[in-house]
Amino acid sequence: MKLIDGKELSKKIRANVKKEIGVLESVGVTPGLAVLLVGDDPASKTYVSMKEKACEEAGIYSIVHKMPTSISQEKILEILDMINKNDYIDGILVQLPLPAHIDTDTILESIDPEKDVDGFHPFNMGRLVLGLDCFAPCTPLGVMRMLQEYEIDPKGKDVCIVGASNIVGKPMFNLLLNAGATVDICHIFTKDLKSHTKRADIVIVGVGKANLITEEMIKDDAIVIDIGINRLENGKLVGDVDFYSVAPKCSYITPVPGGVGPMTIAMLLENTLKAAKNRNKKKGTVGE
Ligand code: NAD
Repeated sequence: MKLIDGKELSKKIRANVKKEIGVLESVGVTPGLAVLLVGDDPASKTYVSMKEKACEEAGIYSIVHKMPTSISQEKILEILDMINKNDYIDGILVQLPLPAHIDTDTILESIDPEKDVDGFHPFNMGRLVLGLDCFAPCTPLGVMRMLQEYEIDPKGKDVCIVGASNIVGKPMFNLLLNAGATVDICHIFTKDLKSHTKRADIVIVGVGKANLITEEMIKDDAIVIDIGINRLENGKLVGDVDFYSVAPKCSYITPVPGGVGPMTIAMLLENTLKAAKNRNKKKGTVGE
């Protein structure tokens, strides 16, 4: 069994992003990321501060717009409009979840698709489905990069994705399908989860339930990618896979923490760099 080390790989990617940003800076371009944080959910705050720190290290200018839970949807749309028009900002990220009185779809659709570095806008999602160049959501994109780094080619493989959310499972499905995999996607209403996971060469889980995937659900030598993040009562962070029973059966497995999580941030930096390059190519500041 081999561990897929997302922490190490993300360091490598972040160093490359930093190097490329150094080149952009030599022509006077500093990529900028704006983050909208609504309310005071502790997990969201932690994620946003991790993203801020990563930006700073990479040389990306970042600004966090902190808003109270009580803010109106109209006010958020007003702020978004201002950021869409701000020429110093290349990427926009709305930290989810938003409070219940805010319509998340309306907010996400109001982000300029050229600055949509989280890849949640229907424009980018549509292009992803069609296999066209786009901003793909960072977590599934990070999984694809991990597979690539470990020379695991999804082409012709049977892949089972567990979890079908808009931000994880659905874009993961499309990225893998575009890469030539045969993809099966399971969710809360799937009748017999084990019958799907058991025959897959690659199992990718993003649900948010500790120990959902156990040893008898995985075939020998399968590759297991655990996207889930769960905080146990004792404070320990675990994924959706019962790591200690599943790992010995696998050819490759990702740990939690230190697997997919760090890759998500690395992909956000790459997407922000891509947005900055695209926008500056259009303006003629940087070449092709
Ligand atoms: P979500 O709640 O939006 O979606 C969960 C999905 O799991 C749904 O499709 C649901 O139908 C399915 N599901 C629920 N119970 C199930 C069951 N018993 N069997 C099969 N499917 C089931 O969650 P999300 O935002 O997609 O996040 C999923 C997990 O991934 C969470 O733990 C989250 O913290 C984690 N996550 C991690 C990263 C990262 O960077 N590592 C990024 C995003 C999300």
